[in-house]
Amino acid sequence: MKLMLHVAPGIVRKPIVSSVILETKALINIERAKVDAVSGEIVVDVDPEKCGEVKAAFEEKGVKVVLLENPIIKDEDECIHCGACISICPTGTFHFEGSLVVADAGKCVQCGTCVAACPQRALKLVLK
Ligand code: SF4
Ligand code: SF4
Repeated sequence: MKLMLHVAPGIVRKPIVSSVILETKALINIERAKVDAVSGEIVVDVDPEKCGEVKAAFEEKGVKVVLLENPIIKDEDECIHCGACISICPTGTFHFEGSLVVADAGKCVQCGTCVAACPQRALKLVLK
């Protein structure tokens, strides 16, 4: 299960991910991270069985956590199956099945690249 972590100013310099790993003993894979001196946005992948515990541990440390259950939505009425998103996605979220482009949303790390690249504006990121 993927989680989006929003790390606020004031705690971004703390070793929060390491602390949560030690505390929960969960394997946490960092899939995308954009961190600077004042804030951070990190996507991690966590064993579904540990997800609730890990989420609570991050929240306890002041991190806002969003579950990425279905991170990318494709509007099937707008998609023309051109394949542009297949070429550009760094995680292999899209593939052809016959002549149709389908998404395996579980691979998406919400980098946003495909949203800008889609000529039909058929893709949107979901935050919830
Ligand atoms: S880039 Fe847009 S229109 Fe093209 S296959 Fe992907 S979602 Fe469909
Ligand atoms: S936002 Fe688009 S390009 Fe980025 S990982 Fe998700 S599906 Fe791939």
